[in-house]
Amino acid sequence: MNVAIRKIIEKNKCRPGNVFSFNSGTKTITYIPEELEEKNGDLALLHEIAHMQLGHFTYKYDIELMRMEEEAWDETRKLAKENGIEVDEDHIKECLDSYDQWISKRATCPKCGEYALQKDHRTFGCFVCDCYWEVNDRKDRAVRKKIISKIQKTGKCVQTNLSENPKSVLSGVLVVASSISSAVHLLIGGSSLLS
Ligand SMILES: [Zn+2]
Ligand SMILES: [Zn+2]
Repeated sequence: MNVAIRKIIEKNKCRPGNVFSFNSGTKTITYIPEELEEKNGDLALLHEIAHMQLGHFTYKYDIELMRMEEEAWDETRKLAKENGIEVDEDHIKECLDSYDQWISKRATCPKCGEYALQKDHRTFGCFVCDCYWEVNDRKDRAVRKKIISKIQKTGKCVQTNLSENPKSVLSGVLVVASSISSAVHLLIGGSSLLS
């Protein structure tokens, strides 16, 4: 292992695992030991350090995540220079492109194929065909979309439908709850999750 990388691991809360990620709750970085011996593994670790140093803890909209990724890679370039680690610009571009593709997939209307607006952390709404959908949250899995009724899309509707339709109320509450809890979700980034 590179001496500079070993020092970084010792200095920060880093633990071996099967992903490169930064847990903003425990401020712990997870890294894949075997990949530190390979090209771009050191860069992946520095990228997570960058998220931590930049204070990337929460985000609500995908566009914010994209900005965080760009900032983190800028910081990674600086850290790499300081520690004498080679930067592979093609690799950085690939990582950013994969985020971009993931975000585009989430935002594409499952009914008409238009690019839609993000309503909250996991909900999108199409202004062309009025379709609403919820997405899964895992960046290391294929994007899944579940079409939901408009009742489910806001907490406000939960109130108005309370007596008539308990079932949609329940799912409405869940949608709201999931967007609240995601405010403290883990920021999982890094090349190995998406490439
Ligand atoms: Zn649509
Ligand atoms: Zn990242």
